[in-house]
Amino acid sequence: AAASAAELLCCANARALLDSVDAFLFDCDGVIWKGDKLIDGVPQTLDMLRSKGKKLVFVTNNSTKSRIQYANKFQSLGLSVNQEDAEKRAQWKSNCLFEHDKYVGAVVVGLDPDINYYKLQYATLCIRENPGCLFIATNRDSVGHMTDLQEWPGAGCMVAAVCGSTEQEPIVVGKPSTFMMDFLLQKFNVSTSRMCMVGDRLDTDILFGQNAGCKTLLVLSGVTTQSTLDDPSNSIKPDYYTNKVSDILSLLGE
Ligand code: PLP
Ligand code: CA
Repeated sequence: AAASAAELLCCANARALLDSVDAFLFDCDGVIWKGDKLIDGVPQTLDMLRSKGKKLVFVTNNSTKSRIQYANKFQSLGLSVNQEDAEKRAQWKSNCLFEHDKYVGAVVVGLDPDINYYKLQYATLCIRENPGCLFIATNRDSVGHMTDLQEWPGAGCMVAAVCGSTEQEPIVVGKPSTFMMDFLLQKFNVSTSRMCMVGDRLDTDILFGQNAGCKTLLVLSGVTTQSTLDDPSNSIKPDYYTNKVSDILSLLGE
């Protein structure tokens, strides 16, 4: 069945949306920032939502920073976040031995700007030759904003390289998989029917929200254009769409 059309956010449905949700899940790139540049009106919008008692959660597929590094990024952009249980993670060290460690239990593939043939070989040996070795993908995003000026290849292309060499499919932990949602639900006492997922990508963010039974709001400030949303080949329709997050603020007249 064809998905029903997305509604343009307006004053009335923005109010109804606010009344019907207790938590907003925000995708980061294309919604909060583009690369290292804050999107217009975001701080004011987040402040307004917090002042109405909404819980705000940030869910990014970008695995190139740890939670502490993200907390620092939010802070450097003038946004306040808690990162209660962020832990310092050991620095990933490149391992280009061609004798692979027989005890590696999982290969995790995320975005790696220094990917090369030898790293691919190491990952391939572990997955193909270690019994039970898991193949995990942080996400399969095709492109992302490594900078605000243009899109760059995302983790999806590195994941595809390892799929190609191993002839295996990964377990994906990023959006749209329910993995992060299961984590959020354990942590916060909010039901998914009272959550709204706000994102700029249909096949990760909006699908993630829909898979979990959240309301969904697409913003056109990132990778998705109005014509992609309206394209007959697109079957992923958010409940609502709008140009940018701060429209919520202006539509409410605040
Ligand atoms: N992965 C990488 C490496 C990125 O650069 C980006 C966006 O910049 C993403 C994933 C997508 O991030 P998000 O889920 O916040 O849109
Ligand atoms: Ca995004």
